[in-house]
Amino acid sequence: MLRVGLTGGLGSGKSTVAAMLRDLGAHVVQADEVGRQLMQPGQAVFDQIVAHFGSDILAADGTLDRAKLSKIAFADGRVEELNTIVHPATIAAQAAWMAEIAAKEPNAVCVVESALLFESKHGDPRNRFDRIVLVYAPEELRIQRFLARQPGSTVEDARRRIAAQLSDFEKMQRSHFMIRNDGTLEDLRRQVVQLWAELQKAATPQ
Ligand code: ADP
Repeated sequence: MLRVGLTGGLGSGKSTVAAMLRDLGAHVVQADEVGRQLMQPGQAVFDQIVAHFGSDILAADGTLDRAKLSKIAFADGRVEELNTIVHPATIAAQAAWMAEIAAKEPNAVCVVESALLFESKHGDPRNRFDRIVLVYAPEELRIQRFLARQPGSTVEDARRRIAAQLSDFEKMQRSHFMIRNDGTLEDLRRQVVQLWAELQKAATPQ
């Protein structure tokens, strides 16, 4: 089994690459989705968040009020407190997911898609993954894509989010493969097919 971390800045095209890899036969999970599931009532992470931030962050139906939680975490500078609860559990759940697939399919390629793979202080991705793939696109193009996808958002929103992420140069230095997504979707697909061949080779014992 090959453990692959897939990352890229906002609007780089990493979800598009993840979908292409899934079509080619990879197992794919989104780190955000794993985190969201762990934050549901009944999960230990949910209990820890409520114990730490107080029951004010609950909605009337007893689930987390994500808008309130984000406000407390981001506006009040407490995001690292939230990450300390959520990230280790998310990383453990990803590892369990990959181990479960490997037990059934020893040559599987498992891909974890995560916007903040390098930014988290919890667990160096180079220890958690056998290969790291970066999807790169120039910033101006990423902002255009972000604005097209999220009507009502502004260039400032996009720039603020981008500023919170590590620079592309630093990400390139820490990645094994880079996909350059500044052309057409067909150009992107050609690169993903090549990448898939490399990943499959690495997943299969010689
Ligand atoms: P990310 O997951 O990195 O934020 P997405 O894969 O969601 O980025 O891509 C952002 C938007 O740009 C999506 O609407 C996607 O369809 C579009 N997109 C991505 N790559 C290309 C491309 N090469 N040509 C045209 N549109 C693209």
